[in-house]
Amino acid sequence: MTQLVPLFVAGEFCHSETSQWIEVTDPATNAVIAEVPCATDQEMEHAICDAQRVFGQWKNVPVSERARVMLKYQHLLKEHHDEIAMLLSKETGKTTVDAKGDVWRGIEVVEQAANIASNMMGETVENVATDIDTYSLIQPLGVCCGITPFNFPAMIPLWMFPLAIAAGNTFVLKPSEQVPLTAMRLAELFEQAGATKGVLQIVHGGKEQVDYLLEHPQIKAVSFVGSVPVAQYIYHTGTANNKRVQAFAGAKNHMVVMPDANKAQVINNLVGSSVGAAGQRCMAISVAVFVGSAKEWIGDLATELAKVKPGAWNDEQAGYGPLISEQAKQRVIRLIEQGIAQGAKCELNGSQCSVAGFPNGNWLGPTLFSGVTTDMSIYQQEIFGPVLVCLEVDTLEEAIELINNNPYGNGTSIFTASGAAARKYQHEILVGQVGINVPIPVPLPFFSFTGWRGSFYGDLHAYGKQAVRFYTETKTVTARWFDDDIPTGPNMSIQLR
Ligand code: NAD
Repeated sequence: MTQLVPLFVAGEFCHSETSQWIEVTDPATNAVIAEVPCATDQEMEHAICDAQRVFGQWKNVPVSERARVMLKYQHLLKEHHDEIAMLLSKETGKTTVDAKGDVWRGIEVVEQAANIASNMMGETVENVATDIDTYSLIQPLGVCCGITPFNFPAMIPLWMFPLAIAAGNTFVLKPSEQVPLTAMRLAELFEQAGATKGVLQIVHGGKEQVDYLLEHPQIKAVSFVGSVPVAQYIYHTGTANNKRVQAFAGAKNHMVVMPDANKAQVINNLVGSSVGAAGQRCMAISVAVFVGSAKEWIGDLATELAKVKPGAWNDEQAGYGPLISEQAKQRVIRLIEQGIAQGAKCELNGSQCSVAGFPNGNWLGPTLFSGVTTDMSIYQQEIFGPVLVCLEVDTLEEAIELINNNPYGNGTSIFTASGAAARKYQHEILVGQVGINVPIPVPLPFFSFTGWRGSFYGDLHAYGKQAVRFYTETKTVTARWFDDDIPTGPNMSIQLR
């Protein structure tokens, strides 16, 4: 019998009464490994109302105690790191190395959550007028929620609930229905960390359940990570319902290759950052922009890419795993066909790919296009597969203009030996996360994850100080104390009252 994924409501792992279940499959075999419920309205209501009830207690738990829960949680996650990674591999198909990285990047955010007090300090100005001081308090919002994508089942939920909860909120998480198992394991360990029951709730489902969250008056803030159309929908619906929203969306990340760059580094980094994790990373490099004579390296790049083989999660030789679903694979194949039909040169075509022992997996080999122009579908759309498209320009200025005209702004990088070129690039590029000789510039959690333009809807970003601002409200207090009220004379009493 397949595993039925429970809900996590009011501190209990409970069976859903729904009649609608979604199959969870192993992407390497397409075998059904579990079924996830679409929570009923009553179950959604129960989760949100219980989170609201618990908020009344949790917000009064001293900040140092909330931080201690996160310290314990971080310890438990480290202790169970490999086991979580294995579970994550099973439902995403990620290789072991990649799955461990997914968990580890999440643990780093929990470490930041354990440091919550220093990020919740207000400001004080003494004597704003005679005997009057003004100071600010940073207070939690109430019930916050998170809606997460399939591609980082540990890291992205951990971007959200630990910081929100450490800041004194309660949290309702709706994980991706394609990968719900990792989220449940994260919840089991969170419970063991000793937080008050009901501080974290997990509901499952799709659009209907997301709409319930977006429309519920008790939900104060919505964190979303996923595709562009859904991010736009969540941002508009959430803000129309007077909620604070941060919505992280899709991407088209460009790497600029200058002719003075270290060729071996360029090729090595382009291979890893384009097809690693089967290209299913929001910060994957999906476009290489070769400046001047650097285009002569495309042939060697194709040779190196061709050496990368996909495989099952426990195959140590595998460069990456399968795509998340047959549907995702077919979508990428259609885009590859469009690229060829629209005149791009397919240097390497991974459409026909098989892996021994896994005849039903969603495999795609590394794919490389050259001679790509900005009007082609393979340039305009996020492919989210192991496909790298190459464009050629004559100057750095042209590269900057091309990238600034692309609607996305998640991440970018430049490979060069010139400090002047790198500085010009970091200054002029309209992208929120820039790497200089670093292919995937995801900042550690003491900074924030700062996608721009079409890759982000909202104002305050994920993790770091910005996330604490997102999950809190600032209250300013202006206080006056009268000298006349100071008690005079010694108090000789030994009674404590
Ligand atoms: P998705 O948008 O299909 O799903 C994300 C979440 O939204 C899931 O929980 C899903 O149940 C829910 N959802 C789906 N359709 C919905 C609808 N119509 N209404 C309401 N909710 C809906 O995304 P995905 O395929 O799981 O993830 C891949 C996408 O996520 C890619 O576009 C990738 O670039 C993006 N992503 C972005 C970042 C970032 O930081 N910018 C990080 C990771 C992934």
